[in-house]
Amino acid sequence: MSIDAHGHSADEHGGADCSATLLRLYEYLDGEMTTTDTARIKAHLDECGPCMQQHDRETALKALIRRACACEPAPTELRMRIVQRITTIRIETTD
Ligand SMILES: [Zn+2]
Repeated sequence: MSIDAHGHSADEHGGADCSATLLRLYEYLDGEMTTTDTARIKAHLDECGPCMQQHDRETALKALIRRACACEPAPTELRMRIVQRITTIRIETTD
Protein backbone atom coordinates (compact mmCIF):
# COMPACT_ATOMS: atom_id res chain seq x y z
CA MET A 1 0.00 0.00 0.00
CA SER A 2 1.48 3.32 -0.99
CA ILE A 3 1.35 6.42 1.20
CA ASP A 4 0.89 9.81 -0.46
CA ALA A 5 2.16 13.23 0.63
CA HIS A 6 -0.76 13.79 2.95
CA GLY A 7 0.17 10.79 5.00
CA HIS A 8 -2.76 8.58 4.20
CA SER A 9 -3.00 5.69 1.83
CA ALA A 10 -3.90 6.35 -1.77
CA ASP A 11 -6.33 3.46 -1.74
CA GLU A 12 -8.35 5.27 0.94
CA HIS A 13 -10.16 7.52 -1.51
CA GLY A 14 -10.04 4.98 -4.29
CA GLY A 15 -8.19 7.50 -6.44
CA ALA A 16 -4.68 8.05 -7.67
CA ASP A 17 -1.96 9.18 -5.27
CA CYS A 18 0.19 12.28 -5.79
CA SER A 19 3.11 10.65 -7.57
CA ALA A 20 0.82 8.74 -9.91
CA THR A 21 -1.15 11.91 -10.62
CA LEU A 22 1.91 14.04 -11.36
CA LEU A 23 3.45 11.24 -13.40
CA ARG A 24 0.43 11.14 -15.67
CA LEU A 25 -0.34 14.88 -15.64
CA TYR A 26 0.73 15.37 -19.26
CA GLU A 27 -1.40 12.47 -20.43
CA TYR A 28 -4.28 14.01 -18.53
CA LEU A 29 -3.72 17.47 -20.03
CA ASP A 30 -3.32 16.04 -23.52
CA GLY A 31 -6.51 14.05 -23.13
CA GLU A 32 -4.71 10.80 -23.84
CA MET A 33 -6.29 8.94 -20.94
CA THR A 34 -9.27 6.68 -20.70
CA THR A 35 -12.42 8.15 -19.19
CA THR A 36 -11.84 6.15 -16.01
CA ASP A 37 -8.26 7.39 -15.58
CA THR A 38 -9.27 10.96 -16.38
CA ALA A 39 -11.98 10.83 -13.72
CA ARG A 40 -9.51 9.38 -11.21
CA ILE A 41 -6.94 12.13 -11.83
CA LYS A 42 -9.62 14.82 -11.76
CA ALA A 43 -10.94 13.49 -8.45
CA HIS A 44 -7.45 13.65 -6.97
CA LEU A 45 -6.83 17.18 -8.27
CA ASP A 46 -10.12 18.32 -6.77
CA GLU A 47 -9.05 17.27 -3.29
CA CYS A 48 -5.29 17.83 -3.46
CA GLY A 49 -4.03 21.43 -3.44
CA PRO A 50 -0.37 20.79 -4.34
CA CYS A 51 -1.29 18.60 -7.32
CA MET A 52 -3.86 21.16 -8.47
CA GLN A 53 -1.18 23.88 -8.33
CA GLN A 54 1.13 21.76 -10.43
CA HIS A 55 -1.75 21.11 -12.82
CA ASP A 56 -2.40 24.86 -13.12
CA ARG A 57 1.29 25.53 -13.78
CA GLU A 58 1.45 22.93 -16.53
CA THR A 59 -1.76 24.25 -18.06
CA ALA A 60 -0.35 27.79 -18.13
CA LEU A 61 2.92 26.53 -19.58
CA LYS A 62 1.13 24.59 -22.30
CA ALA A 63 -0.93 27.65 -23.21
CA LEU A 64 2.24 29.72 -23.39
CA ILE A 65 3.97 27.21 -25.67
CA ARG A 66 0.91 26.94 -27.88
CA ARG A 67 0.77 30.73 -28.23
CA ALA A 68 4.49 30.93 -29.08
CA CYS A 69 4.20 28.23 -31.75
CA ALA A 70 1.10 29.75 -33.31
CA CYS A 71 2.81 33.08 -33.87
CA GLU A 72 1.51 34.73 -37.02
CA PRO A 73 3.88 36.30 -39.52
CA ALA A 74 4.18 40.07 -39.19
CA PRO A 75 1.52 41.97 -41.14
CA THR A 76 2.68 43.07 -44.58
CA GLU A 77 2.45 46.77 -43.72
CA LEU A 78 4.62 46.36 -40.65
CA ARG A 79 7.15 44.24 -42.55
CA MET A 80 7.41 46.86 -45.29
CA ARG A 81 7.93 49.59 -42.73
CA ILE A 82 10.75 47.59 -41.16
CA VAL A 83 12.36 46.96 -44.57
CA GLN A 84 12.07 50.67 -45.43
CA ARG A 85 13.65 51.58 -42.09
CA ILE A 86 16.54 49.19 -42.71
CA THR A 87 17.00 50.55 -46.24
CA THR A 88 16.99 54.13 -44.95
CA ILE A 89 19.59 53.32 -42.31
CA ARG A 90 21.77 51.59 -44.89
CA ILE A 91 21.60 54.66 -47.21
CA GLU A 92 22.50 56.97 -44.32
CA THR A 93 25.43 54.86 -43.16
CA THR A 94 26.93 54.23 -46.61
CA ASP A 95 27.01 57.97 -47.26
ZN1 LIG B 1 -1.82 15.05 -4.75
